[in-house]
Amino acid sequence: MDLSYGPEYEAFRSEVRRFLEAHPDAPKAGIGRGALASRERALAWQRTLIEHGYAARTIPREYGGAGRAPDLLQSIIIDEEFARAGVSRGIAGQGPSMLVPTLLEHGSEEQKRRYVGPTIRGEMVWCQGYSEPGSGSDLASLQTRATDDGDSWRINGQKIWTSTARESDMMFALIRTEPNAPKHEGISYLVFPMSTPGIDVRPLHTLTGNAEFNEVFFSDVRVPKTSLVGKRGEGWKIGNTTLRHERNMLGSTGQTESMFASLVALMESETVSGARAIDSPVLRDRLGRLEASVLAMKYHALRLLTCQLRGESPGVAGLIVKLQGCELNHQIAALALDVLGELGPLHRDSPHLRAGGAWPYQWMFSLGLIIGGGTAQIQKNIIAERGLGLPREPKAA
Ligand SMILES: Cc1cc2nc3c(=O)[nH]c(=O)nc-3n(C[C@H](O)[C@H](O)[C@H](O)COP(=O)(O)OP(=O)(O)OC[C@H]3O[C@@H](n4cnc5c(N)ncnc54)[C@H](O)[C@@H]3O)c2cc1C
Repeated sequence: MDLSYGPEYEAFRSEVRRFLEAHPDAPKAGIGRGALASRERALAWQRTLIEHGYAARTIPREYGGAGRAPDLLQSIIIDEEFARAGVSRGIAGQGPSMLVPTLLEHGSEEQKRRYVGPTIRGEMVWCQGYSEPGSGSDLASLQTRATDDGDSWRINGQKIWTSTARESDMMFALIRTEPNAPKHEGISYLVFPMSTPGIDVRPLHTLTGNAEFNEVFFSDVRVPKTSLVGKRGEGWKIGNTTLRHERNMLGSTGQTESMFASLVALMESETVSGARAIDSPVLRDRLGRLEASVLAMKYHALRLLTCQLRGESPGVAGLIVKLQGCELNHQIAALALDVLGELGPLHRDSPHLRAGGAWPYQWMFSLGLIIGGGTAQIQKNIIAERGLGLPREPKAA
């Protein structure tokens, strides 16, 4: 198996390394205080990355991107070199990672010009209004509705588990506009400001102690007709484009590798009964098992890359990444907590905190991501039914 990328790409790798060396103060990636960059610093770093083609790389210049030609291997090399240097890959999140590619595929010219630039620069923050009470895994059953009101839509209903709704400027949402159509055909995809009158956001506190997500209520919320992305009633298809990008974001091999590297660093610096944690046979055995899983994930990603380079669809194999990545991130954080022993559960306001309390936070938060973006059970069902051809799950009567 030849895993080298060839001289032309190795020259590109040197270029990326020179850029990283020229920016020694860049915000750090991964776990720890260094990763918790201020918003101003994060925005400034994002601008630098776009300017040099290391963020929003293939997004056309007219929409504020770097306008480079798509080249998968170059993108992989950038990921690898940033991970190796432990440097932040810039602003991600639901706007740049999920909404932008959806708009580029399905949005109008006006929507692309208005939203893509500020979103990739991190100036416009988005939240995803999909889930409702009773409509999570069975998303197509959603009931929040928008009625045609001349030049606007009038929205009523409720969303739930809406991450970052309080910090967001905008929402992209799936809303039922055709009440008499079959459930998958009656949904539209709308984008609108969170400041629109009639939107009420109520925080929900999670295991981490923070209010990472919210309930969002809509009472006669009027948004202009231009809020519609794509055609009326075609929101299910467009919403699935967003979900595909969400799974890619949640199952990032680079992120898992960088977390694993932080775990190794932790085990080299922490001691258990006077000896380095990494030298403890029990902890080292667990680390070795995790390393095998991280490598399996990496080689699986390379397999998917080969498919993409050949123009073949990876099919259901692509779905494994989210399942694998989210569960692995949780296991990596679990080992870090065990390494920290009695300091493990401390995650705020203690002089004994390690990495700013990032490990226990990561352990709690990554448990949620096994559910968010499609639960592990649903992913397994899809892999079993569509990938392995096993019999379909009987539908409830
Ligand atoms: C951290 C986090 C962030 C989130 N952020 C957002 C967000 O920003 N926007 C948004 O719209 N939503 C968000 N969600 C919601 C998320 O998409 C839903 O929680 C998820 O789709 C599951 O839906 P549910 O909670 O209604 O659970 P349910 O669908 O009620 O499922 C409950 C349990 O039953 C299992 N189950 C259900 N059906 C089946 C089946 N057919 N076979 C086997 N098992 C099944 C599920 O796997 C799960 O374990 C977030 C969730 C989390 C945890």
